[in-house]
Amino acid sequence: GYRARSAYKLKQLDQDAGLFGPGNTVVDLGAAPGGWLQVAAEEVGPQGQVIGVDLQRIRDVEADTVETIRGDMTDEETKEKLRERVGEEGADVVISDMAPNMTGEYSLDHARSVHLARQAFEVALELLPAGGDLAVKVFDGPDVEDLRADMEEEFQYVRSIRPDASRDQSSEQYLVGKHRITAPVATGD
Ligand code: SAM
Repeated sequence: GYRARSAYKLKQLDQDAGLFGPGNTVVDLGAAPGGWLQVAAEEVGPQGQVIGVDLQRIRDVEADTVETIRGDMTDEETKEKLRERVGEEGADVVISDMAPNMTGEYSLDHARSVHLARQAFEVALELLPAGGDLAVKVFDGPDVEDLRADMEEEFQYVRSIRPDASRDQSSEQYLVGKHRITAPVATGD
């Protein structure tokens, strides 16, 4: 079985948006307790690689293709560790299920969620070569549209997906950017 029910959300995102292939390198941000790591490891198979990051310690996942880093994705030190672990070839897919501790104050929870989603987006731009995909959780609210617009500049297209498994937390959605576009070279004019 999976460690977290959220595993089924990732399965649905993969079914709807075609995220993973055999042999892929996947970066999973906000990975504890490890449900998404289990699903990603199954999908990429023995030739793949899955790297999870979380503030919390993550209990070892059985698949030996999974490695984890304990750290805060808003810290430069954690990002540097992650870049080193991923290496020069980069990742095929970045997924983020990062969520803030809920205060119950809607606008604050929303703002913190968008901040975490933007951290994931920024690190994805460093880790994904052309063709790479990003799926990132965000709580509904006024700032989602700006994030989506920024993602649309970097990916061929962006979809918003609400997995059935999220029904009971209906204020969350996943923005999925498909096929990263390589930045055009600046011409200076
Ligand atoms: N996808 C996971 C699974 O299937 O097991 C569940 C992730 S849980 C909904 C959200 C996680 O985001 C929490 O474990 C939390 O510690 C992590 N998180 C929140 N802020 C973070 C940050 N700044 N850096 C790293 N992880 C963070």
